[in-house]
Amino acid sequence: MGVPTLGCECAVCTSRDPRDRRLRPSLLVRWRAGAGERVVVIDTGPDFREQALRSGIRRVDAVLYTHGHADHILGLDDLRPLSFIVNRESGPVPLYASPDATEVLERVFNYTFSPNATYPTRARVQLKPLAGRTEVHGVEFIRVPVLHGQLEIAGFRFGRAAYLTDVNTIPESSFALLEGLDHLVISALRHQPHPSHATIDQAVGWAQRIGARQTWFTHMAHELGHEETNRMLPAGIELAYDGLTIPVTLA
Ligand SMILES: [Zn+2]
Ligand SMILES: [Zn+2]
Repeated sequence: MGVPTLGCECAVCTSRDPRDRRLRPSLLVRWRAGAGERVVVIDTGPDFREQALRSGIRRVDAVLYTHGHADHILGLDDLRPLSFIVNRESGPVPLYASPDATEVLERVFNYTFSPNATYPTRARVQLKPLAGRTEVHGVEFIRVPVLHGQLEIAGFRFGRAAYLTDVNTIPESSFALLEGLDHLVISALRHQPHPSHATIDQAVGWAQRIGARQTWFTHMAHELGHEETNRMLPAGIELAYDGLTIPVTLA
């Protein structure tokens, strides 16, 4: 829902700590390539435009979608100006998505994806099936299947980092894809159980099993204040915050 949550006046929603202001979750992976840079975005939520402005990106080389829920897809249309730039160089921007997520994207953004779409300034993007491994200009993104309620969704590993959002079950086979991480970003919604999101305790358990050098929690609801929650977390686990930048090894 984002924090502050609409209509709420709780301590976290009215906090003056900038780390208690949370846009909808998204991740940017950027690396230098010659004189320029390459940019991969994981999810384009409703706040994508604001996040793209903050991070100063001038291009998007690919988008990877975790799943088709509103808080992860609704900013797709704001790819338009960036897609015009990339399209002039090398054609439409590839958007990688599972069959479930593709179905949602085609329906919600019918005016973009329909074969009969005629809107002249529609995004220059192309949906592609998300495979187990996706290479974007030499960097490999490995799909890490996780469960979000009943729905299988995608997490991603790239180099020595991984991003798992909206998870409430990690299948046994996915742990093998998460060995040897420097950084793990994983969602933790709140303390109380939720049918499709992890609690702090569950996420701490996974973080300790996976054993990344550093784990960052994301996708927190307004029940979790930044400072007070961080104080109770074990060493090596912290809440992420909007704008957090981490150097990662991609090779
Ligand atoms: Zn609140
Ligand atoms: Zn979500």
